[in-house]
Amino acid sequence: MTLKPERSSALDALVEEILGRAHKAGRKELAAWRKPQRELRELARLDYVRVMRRTVDYHTLRAIIRETRKIWPEFNREVFRPKSLNQLAAISSDLRIHLQATPYRGPEGMALRGFYMDKAPKVLKHPLIYLNTAHDRGAVSMTFMHEMGHHVTAKATGRASDGVHYFFDAAHRSHLGEPLELAADVIASLAAYPEPIARRIFAMPWDWGLVARADQLPDKAFAQIRKHVRELTGFDFGASLPTGQTLNYLTGMIHYAKLRWALLAEYEL
Ligand SMILES: [Zn+2]
Repeated sequence: MTLKPERSSALDALVEEILGRAHKAGRKELAAWRKPQRELRELARLDYVRVMRRTVDYHTLRAIIRETRKIWPEFNREVFRPKSLNQLAAISSDLRIHLQATPYRGPEGMALRGFYMDKAPKVLKHPLIYLNTAHDRGAVSMTFMHEMGHHVTAKATGRASDGVHYFFDAAHRSHLGEPLELAADVIASLAAYPEPIARRIFAMPWDWGLVARADQLPDKAFAQIRKHVRELTGFDFGASLPTGQTLNYLTGMIHYAKLRWALLAEYEL
């Protein structure tokens, strides 16, 4: 961590305050989180190529990827494996990012994956990433990459992002319409499915046609995605979690995979 011990209580207080606002800020997302089937069904059908084209500009995307490669030269060439909290803390410390990683339980604690806040004069000297460690380890790593996505986007565009970016577990649908959130999701998606793996999973030439699309995942691709996630995180949608949580993770898996498919089909990334 970049913080000296005597200052960390101020940071703790800031994190507490932001977490305290989460249930208000995420009213819509919390409602969606309680009914995971709806988002799951919608995202499974949606054509991600069309959505992505509307939200993410290609040149900005290339700039963000270049920025990410300054941190991880093998980004989108090799998979970003789930890391321990110590490893994530070391990465953050090197980049002068405050990392706070604690379980956030509360009544709907699991609905929150984390948040990102850019440095702000007087309030925060360095950017802040909060990770909810009540989640599965693979999910925590994915959250970290999403929040890092905000960090590299701010660097690549030269614009600090405004305020606090909450990451709710049932907000994938809304991310599709928000350039900053979708850019962050793109970084997480490329980290989990680097190009060689994406080309193998989405090798479906009969289906590509003249106009790229990424709507219904073919069964074969879905099976490979599930296998990839299992090998990477050990997570297999078992019965150990409440059904709602399992469905939210499943929605996340489909979201990141379809996003990856769209990036390959539309931008050949
Ligand atoms: Zn975000």
